[in-house]
Amino acid sequence: MSLTNMPPADSSNSVAQPAIVQASSSSAVANTTLTNAQNTSEVSVGGDSPQAPKRNLLGMEIDALTMEGAVDRLWNWIHDSQETQGCRYVVTPNVDHAVLLQENEDLQAAYRDAHLVLADGHPVVLASKLLKQPVPERVAGSELVPSLFDAFNLHGALKVFLLGAAEGVAEVAAKNMLQKWPNVQTIGVYSPPMGFEKDKVECANILARIAACKPDVVVVGLGAPKQELWVHRYHQLIDAKVALCVGATIDFLAGEKKRAPYWMQRTGLEWAHRMFSEPKRLVKRYAKDAWVFPQLVARQWIADARISVVQEQKELMIQKDQKLQEDGVR
Ligand code: UDP
Repeated sequence: MSLTNMPPADSSNSVAQPAIVQASSSSAVANTTLTNAQNTSEVSVGGDSPQAPKRNLLGMEIDALTMEGAVDRLWNWIHDSQETQGCRYVVTPNVDHAVLLQENEDLQAAYRDAHLVLADGHPVVLASKLLKQPVPERVAGSELVPSLFDAFNLHGALKVFLLGAAEGVAEVAAKNMLQKWPNVQTIGVYSPPMGFEKDKVECANILARIAACKPDVVVVGLGAPKQELWVHRYHQLIDAKVALCVGATIDFLAGEKKRAPYWMQRTGLEWAHRMFSEPKRLVKRYAKDAWVFPQLVARQWIADARISVVQEQKELMIQKDQKLQEDGVR
């Protein structure tokens, strides 16, 4: 049965009220009694097979999954009882990531090693279709997180650590989450100081805070490419099942930033909403992306076209050779 078709968990199993902690070593994990919808045998990887194909797009290997398929995949990972070193992690490439990645080898490595790469943004989905590497739909990180919470709220329970966003924002997000998803417990939050990524002691501190809580999921909202680089560097030491690199999602959960109206999201105009909300930070970035991204798509299109011309020529030569041989035999 697909996860999305599963019946709700028995409400008598519901979790105790979670204690939100600043993830100090005394973190109140004791308060977390997980409910049990953890019969993983009941969960198949719903809309998409576990072998959903990878699409080769602009130097990224994107998983051709729907939102439902992505949530099912995460569900299975979170319920995977096998002991693993560190955690799996998810990245969600948008136009800006695709542009950044071209000149950033560390980001390329972070993408190459990611356990799930999901197309965030209509232009990425459109490019995938144009380049005959189709992904079924947009799976934005900021939508994946609420979809995951919906699934666990209905069918189980989830322990979450919120890493990132400005001081105090994650606490507000945690309060909002508790209202909306009572079975999703925020068991730790932390907003690292500026420049933390260059400070090994601070990085160790973050890992210790996470380890003290042992969350199922770390929602990482540190902005790109910082979040991808940090998670890539440390994922083998992150004591959680999954880390989701999802940009401003904690801000959205807190209501600190507003997502674009639904019609803008559906018509591929969310970028415009974000740009007008933060023009100082984003105009220059989006202008560069608008210039570079079509060139990247064109470059791959031309390269693919060249390859198929060469292949056609090879096939023609083989056919010609075969015909000559047949004629010779006669
Ligand atoms: N952020 C953070 N620490 C940093 C840099 C950024 O917590 O050192 C947070 C910031 O407060 C915001 C998010 O990262 O919540 C930025 O997300 P967004 O997707 O807007 O960033 P982008 O990927 O577009 O740069």
